[in-house]
Amino acid sequence: MITNIQGTFTLHNGVQMPYLGLGVYLSEEGKEVEQAVHWALETGYRNIDTASFYGNEAGVGRAVRHSGLPREEVFVTSKVWNSDQGYDTTLQAFERSMALLGLDVMDLYLVHWPVAGKYKDTWRALETLYEQGKVRAIGISNFLRHQLEDLLEGARIRPMVNQMEFHPYLVQQDLLDFCKSQQIQYQAWSPLMQGNVFQLPELKRIAGTYGKSIAQLVLRWNLQKGVATIPKSSKETRIRSNADLFDFEISQGDMAAIDALDRHQRFGPDPDIFDF
Ligand code: NAD
Repeated sequence: MITNIQGTFTLHNGVQMPYLGLGVYLSEEGKEVEQAVHWALETGYRNIDTASFYGNEAGVGRAVRHSGLPREEVFVTSKVWNSDQGYDTTLQAFERSMALLGLDVMDLYLVHWPVAGKYKDTWRALETLYEQGKVRAIGISNFLRHQLEDLLEGARIRPMVNQMEFHPYLVQQDLLDFCKSQQIQYQAWSPLMQGNVFQLPELKRIAGTYGKSIAQLVLRWNLQKGVATIPKSSKETRIRSNADLFDFEISQGDMAAIDALDRHQRFGPDPDIFDF
């Protein structure tokens, strides 16, 4: 049930993850990211998605710490970058992220990309951090089914989250179903197709029938599909309006109509052929 801005999906270890979060990729370190996080928390968002690669963990941490909210009410995600993958280097990268964030515990730590030959050692490091209680949940990002199955073979702890590119042009329903069968929570990155979602007439038409914006429709479609989502904006009005999606319900027919827009088209890199 999708009920309110602070509603959660329950991860397989029992941790409650707010299903709507703010993405901060390309939000500039310093004032820009701090303000974005401030506006999001003020609006009621309780989930912030950063990464060491984004270079803005310090600003995110400052905004969370200065929000006046109890620490346990804000869910903070970061990710280990590709060049830091491996067991020891991941442990070190995690400590650097924590120092920048200025937090005692991280809520979710992800393997950012499935770097071949490295991701299993990286995963062992995440298992260690989880067992040490330094992070409340661990997961992966950009793992296709074959990479996920390979990881699961040697894993002691099943990932709690898989964060993937997901939007009306890239549904990957098979992968979504597989993650669900493994109790791995799917989370959408680039849910607004990096801004391209606003060009689609069919979405404009459907959104109009509910009196909602395209962003609100698409984000609500994510949540009704059981997919957590982290739209990015650093503008106050957009941060606020993107979260105004708890006063309508998309019909089954319209859910199917949005699913049918799928073209298996990526706006980001392909997890099978990325080279960074
Ligand atoms: P997005 O789909 O969230 O789109 C963001 C773009 O849409 C921005 O240009 C923003 O200004 C614009 N926008 C947002 N709301 C709008 C509105 N209401 N009206 C008009 N324009 C609007 O793209 P994203 O930033 O790529 O993805 C979201 C988040 O996902 C990132 O910030 C990051 O946290 C995460 N992410 C993760 C990975 C990964 O590999 N794990 C990759 C990319 C992004």
